[in-house]
Amino acid sequence: MSCLIHLHTIAMGCDFEVFAFGEDRGLLRSAAEVAIEEIERIEHLLSHYLPESEISYLNAHAAREPVRVHPEVFELIERAVYLSEETEGAFDITVMPLVRCWGFFEGIGQIPDSRTLAETLERVGFSRLRLSAGNLTIAFAREGVEVHLGAIGKGYAVDRAIEVLRDAGVEAAMVHGGHSSVRAYGAPPDTGGWQINLAHPLYPDRSLAHLLLRNRAISTSSAAEQYFERAGRRYGHILDPRTGMPVENELLCVSVLADEATVTDALSTAFFVLGEEGTREYILAHPGVQAVLLRQGDEQVEWIG
Ligand code: ADP
Ligand code: MG
Repeated sequence: MSCLIHLHTIAMGCDFEVFAFGEDRGLLRSAAEVAIEEIERIEHLLSHYLPESEISYLNAHAAREPVRVHPEVFELIERAVYLSEETEGAFDITVMPLVRCWGFFEGIGQIPDSRTLAETLERVGFSRLRLSAGNLTIAFAREGVEVHLGAIGKGYAVDRAIEVLRDAGVEAAMVHGGHSSVRAYGAPPDTGGWQINLAHPLYPDRSLAHLLLRNRAISTSSAAEQYFERAGRRYGHILDPRTGMPVENELLCVSVLADEATVTDALSTAFFVLGEEGTREYILAHPGVQAVLLRQGDEQVEWIG
C-alpha cells in the first residue's frame, strides 16, 4: 500500500512543506525528516538575519579582505553571478543596499532622494564581487557591498531537499518554500504528476492555472503582496538593480518553469524585472525554460515557451 508523508518547517521567513510518496512508511518518514533538516541547515548557512551565518560573516569582512566561504556557498554565489550575467543584471544578489534604502528591509517603505539613490547604486552590482574559484574566496570591490540570497535561497533549499529525498530512495516527492518555489519528481499513484494551482496574486481564491508538475520546478514572483503606497503610487519589493527603482511594468506576476528550483527562483525575480519582452527574449535563447505571466488588468495568463 502506498502512503503519503507530509512534514513542514518554518525557515527563511516562510513555511516549507515536504510531501513524500512510497510504499515504506518508515523510509518516507526518515527521508522527509532529513529533508527538513537539510532546509534548516541551508537557512543557517545563508541567512541574512543570523549573525553566525556564512553570509553574515562574508558581508562583515569581504570589503577589507577576501573571505573564504563554505564550498557550497561559493558554488551558489557563483551560480547567482552567472544568472545575473544571463539576465543582464535583472537578477542581482547585491541588491540589498537598495532594499534598505527603499525601507523594505525594515518593512517601513520610504522614497529615497535622488542623491541617496545615486550613492546607494555605487554599492550595487554583481561586478563588485570578486570571486576566486581556486581558493573559494570572495571579496567586495568596496565598503557597503552586501550579498543577499533572498531571491534564490528558497529555491536552493527546495533543490537540496529534493536531492535528499531522491538519494534516500523515495519514489515520488514534492517540496515547496512558501509556495513561491516548488519542485517535484515522480508522481503520486494514478496521476501524471503533482497538481499545482497558480493562485491569482490579488484574489488568492481565484485560480490562474492548474498544472501537473513532474521532474520540474516552478517559482513565482509578484509585487502584489509586498509593496507600499505614496501619493497613490505603488512601490513593490522587487527592484531593478540597474536603475535602483522598484519595478513598474505591465506584469502583475510571473511564474517560471525549469528543471531546478534554484534557477526558477532567480529567473522569476529576473523576469519580473525584465517584463514581457525581456522574458520572451530570454526564453527564445534558453530552451527548457518556460514562463506563465499575468499582465496587469488581464484575466488570462500567457504561456511563453
Ligand atoms: P519571494 O521571496 O516572494 O519568493 P523573490 O524570489 O522574487 O520573491 O525575491 C524577492 C526578494 O529578493 C526581495 O524581497 C528582495 O529582498 C530581493 N530582491 C529584490 N529585487 C531583486 C533583484 N532584482 N534581484 C535579486 N534580489 C532581489
Ligand atoms: Mg526569486
